[in-house]
Amino acid sequence: MSDNSLRLVWIYPDLLSTYGDQGNALVVERRARQRGLDVQRLDVRSDQQIPTSGDIYLIGGGEDRPQRLASERLIRDGRLNRAVSNGAIVFSVCAGYQILGHEFINDLGERQQGVGLLDVVSTRGEAERCVGDVLADIDPQLGLPPLTGFENHQGVTHLGKTARPFAKVRFGKGNGVGDGYEGAYNDTVFGTYMHGPVMARNPHIADLLIKLALDVNALPPVEDRWYEALRQERIAAATQPA
Ligand code: GLN
Repeated sequence: MSDNSLRLVWIYPDLLSTYGDQGNALVVERRARQRGLDVQRLDVRSDQQIPTSGDIYLIGGGEDRPQRLASERLIRDGRLNRAVSNGAIVFSVCAGYQILGHEFINDLGERQQGVGLLDVVSTRGEAERCVGDVLADIDPQLGLPPLTGFENHQGVTHLGKTARPFAKVRFGKGNGVGDGYEGAYNDTVFGTYMHGPVMARNPHIADLLIKLALDVNALPPVEDRWYEALRQERIAAATQPA
């Protein structure tokens, strides 16, 4: 952070942006501006270099082939890891979450290296694809209301010793390995399977990232009525399936 400006980086929108995940960038941007911050948003395509000066980096989900390409390019670029070692915050969804781990199974059925910012390993689930609305309780340490989202993934994710589970599932599959967890985080690097886009359903996650970037404990309240209406509708969809 410098002065009143927040640098927000949306990584590889040309490869990773399924199910409206770009909405996450819109929500972080809007809620930061509502708090009087001057937001500089940079969308970095996969043929461009990732800046190391960002405060918050967002990565979305994607199909299996773009996921392979994105991981190769992120590793070749190397700057996301440098930004994190300088204290940057990263929030990733689905394919982006798998890429941030140590490895995942790619579209060729091979084990592929991830960028290693999260202590997780993703494999291919034995069972059917995990698809549907999810409701989960976020790690109480993060002080956030329940997580609502939509999942659609074949990969499943195992947490290593140092990763903390982001949430515990009430309805839905989440990480899909039978431990009941959804997502993971290591310090300022977060991963979730939740689309939706997840920030539109859970604007408090956007606020958490902004608070971490500003290094403050609280933000001025903003109007949450429409977010709350969407949350209630989607929580009902998860808990009362047709
Ligand atoms: N290709 C990955 C999987 O199926 C991620 C899918 C996604 O991002 N929705 O596990």
